[in-house]
Order: sequence, then structure tokens, then C-alpha cells
Amino acid sequence: MENVHYYDVVIIGGGPAGSTAATVLAEKGRRVAVLEKERFPRYHVGESLLPYCYFPLQRIGMIDKLKQSAFIKKHSVQFVRCDGRVSAPFYFFQHLDHEASQTWQVSRSKLDQMLIENAEEFGASIFYETAAKQILTHEDTVIGVQAQKHGGERVVFKAPITIDCSGRDGFAMTRNNWRVRDPQLSKIAIWTYYRGAVRDQGIDEGATTVAYVPEKGWFWYIPLADDMVSVGITAEQAYLYRHGKDLQEIFTREISSNIWVEQHLAPAERVERFWVTGDYSYRSRFCAVDGLVLAGDAFAFLDPVFSSGIFLALRSGEMVADAVDSALTDGDLSAGQFSEYSEQLCGGIEAMRKLVYAFYDKSFNFGHLLDKYPDLRGDLTDCLIGNLFRDFDPLFDAIAQFADIPRPLTYGGPQRKNI
Ligand SMILES: Cc1cc2nc3c(=O)[nH]c(=O)nc-3n(C[C@H](O)[C@H](O)[C@H](O)COP(=O)(O)OP(=O)(O)OC[C@H]3O[C@@H](n4cnc5c(N)ncnc54)[C@H](O)[C@@H]3O)c2cc1C
Repeated sequence: MENVHYYDVVIIGGGPAGSTAATVLAEKGRRVAVLEKERFPRYHVGESLLPYCYFPLQRIGMIDKLKQSAFIKKHSVQFVRCDGRVSAPFYFFQHLDHEASQTWQVSRSKLDQMLIENAEEFGASIFYETAAKQILTHEDTVIGVQAQKHGGERVVFKAPITIDCSGRDGFAMTRNNWRVRDPQLSKIAIWTYYRGAVRDQGIDEGATTVAYVPEKGWFWYIPLADDMVSVGITAEQAYLYRHGKDLQEIFTREISSNIWVEQHLAPAERVERFWVTGDYSYRSRFCAVDGLVLAGDAFAFLDPVFSSGIFLALRSGEMVADAVDSALTDGDLSAGQFSEYSEQLCGGIEAMRKLVYAFYDKSFNFGHLLDKYPDLRGDLTDCLIGNLFRDFDPLFDAIAQFADIPRPLTYGGPQRKNI
């Protein structure tokens, strides 16, 4: 006999998107199952939050928990040129007069565990070490998933709606061949962790540093708790692999291409392996079919230069939960119910995508933009802190004078036909 569980909502993946969606829906009284293939805590890259993470985190009751955590406080982001010269930091409080202007640099194994346990406290049922394996359909409508437990046992989860929050694995996207890569942003990243590196003091201790290397590649330098720092490089694959694929050799060579990074890491000891990933920047052709909707990285991923991933995961988790709740109330879980969700979400992603394109454009420089258009500092900072769901036309009209700005992608809406 097949083991079948019935819920109002099945969520695939217990990262920031899945846990947020689960919390919001459980709080509204919906019966929610979260299937998470890993045992928590588990490692995950992506440690730097944006100030606007505050608002979805506040909604799901996480702010006090974060305030009590040992995570390093982040007040700013700064940029370092190839020759080691440091820009004036963007201090978020200079633009945002709200406690949200202070955010955090997190260990994802800890943050994600806090988020999923929070979802459980709100009433969601969490199934760890339970991997979704197959989408179940009836008359072209998704009716749940078949999953497999760690020991091999197969379990069926049925619900009128499934939310795919499986991250870059892209459960539905991969099975349906929906992943469309952003060709201009086809970078790779190599990263690792150090202990004992140089860190700035006081309010600057938790600054994210983006340090340029030639050819518009960049290092991230993210100070974490316990004297750890996350350091990674993102650039074109051809540039990084030009003399071979030995990750340690590449990393050592590139560190020496930016004196700021070199000096900051000089006293440090590397305490982790090297990690590498490609597949940068994609969006799913569809955000929903009847009975299924996508959120977080399972829907879209953008180059992480401006640390937008967790914010977009939290925010899309919140937005999709509201859309799902209304759809459940209407008794209509067809794809068309998610049109507004996808329009809003894609609008926010497009703002960040334009900024990412500008960053990689050789003729673009923030300093030149703000020298010519000082009045746009507020708009630019809004983008950098994650206030993405507003009109940025004046900012991008101005940036277009310095850089090629992409047209919005035309896909990512709900599919109204069969899958
Ligand atoms: C190199 C790099 C650097 C980054 N740096 C930053 C940064 O500094 N700041 C930032 O905000 N973002 C950063 N990001 C992005 C950020 O990590 C992601 O955007 C964020 O984790 C997305 O959250 P999510 O919940 O959508 O997916 P995830 O956090 O990936 O969670 C998905 C979950 O689904 C589970 N899962 C997957 N498949 C299945 C399945 N079949 N069944 C059950 N469970 C499943 C996984 O185990 C995982 O726990 C970075 C990303 C990369 C690649």
C-alpha cells in the first residue's frame, strides 16, 4: 500500500523561499508540508543579506531571533578597484531611516535552520531527508509529488497546490526543460572560507566588500562570526580557466590581482575546501502551471554581485504564499491565478538584473553616474538595499547613457496549457 499524505499545500525545499512560504501559509491556518531532501543543518553558500530582507523576516517573526543571534551586523557595502583603492562605503542608514538599515552576514546552515524551525513553530509539517522525485498529475493538473525518504521508502504527498522552492536544483524547471540562461551573465564562481583575515573595526566590521579583478570579475569578501570570512571570485569561465582548472592555483593567482584582497588575506588561514559553480543567471520559462507554482531560485537566479538572492527568495516566498492563500480561498489553483505574482516578481528581478548588467559593462562606473546625476543616489541606493518593487525608470534612463541596459525578459509568466 502506498503511503499517501494529504495537505493544503506541498512545498518542495526548505531553504529561505520554502520556509517563508510555509510560515505565511501555516500562520493563515493552511495545512502545509515541507519536503526537504537534506538533514539540517546543511551547508549553503550565500551569506550576505540586503536591508530589505527585514520586511519579509519581520512578517514571519524572525527579527528578534536574528537580533539575538551571533551573526555579524552589516551596515554597508563598499567597492574596491583593481589597484586596491576603496570607494566611500554605501552606508544603508544614510538612505534608510529605519532599523532595517542594519542587516546581517549569516552562516546559512544556521539561518536556514532557524527559518525552517520557525516554520515548524507556526505549524508547518517538516519532512527532512525526503526528496521530491516526481510530479504527479491528473488531467494536466499537478496534484502533488512522489518523494523518497533517506532509507528509500517512497511516499506520496497530495495537495491542490505544490510550491517548488527547490533552489538551483530547479525541480520543475529541470524536469520540464524550462531553464533559460541569461547569456550575458554566464559566469562561474569559485569560493572558500578563511579564519584570521584582516577585518575592519566598529561599524565597518560587517561591510560586504566587492573587489574588482581585471576583465570585470570580482571578489566578494564577507566577514562572518567566529573570525571567519567568506571569499569568492566571480568571472567569465574563459578568464578564470585560461591557464587550467586547478581551483587553488586560480584562486591564489587572482588574489594577487587585487592588493586589497591580498593584504586582507595575508595573515589568514584557509579552513575550507574550494567550491565552484556555473549556471549563473537563469529564469524559468514559466512560473506556474495548473496546481504548481515556482519561487526563489527554483524560479530565477541572478548573479549574486549585489547579494539579491536571499531577499528575492524571502520576498517571493511571502508573495507566493499570499497568492496561494487567495487561490485556495477561491477554490481555483489554475496557473492564471499567478499572473500578478509573476508580474510583480519579474518587475523586481528586472530592476536588479539591469543593475547587474551595468556592473559588468566595461564603460559603466557608479562614480561617473553619481557625478553626473547626484540626485539619483537615492534611487541607486534603493536598488542596492533591495527596495526593488518600485519605478526605476529615471535611474535606468540615466544608466543607459553609460551602459547597455537589457530589455525585460518576455517569459516567466504562468503557462495556461498542459505540461
Ligand atoms: C556563489 C553564490 C554566492 C551567493 N551569494 C549570495 C549572497 O551573498 N547573498 C544572497 O542574498 N544570496 C547569495 N546567493 C544566492 C542565494 O544563495 C540563493 O538565492 C538562496 O539560497 C535562494 O534560496 P531558495 O530558498 O530559493 O533556495 P535554497 O536556499 O537553495 O534552498 C532550496 C532547498 O531545497 C532543497 N531541495 C532541492 N531539491 C529538492 C528536492 N527534490 N526535494 C526536496 N528538497 C529539495 C535543498 O536541499 C535546499 O535546502 C549566492 C549564490 C551563489 C551561487
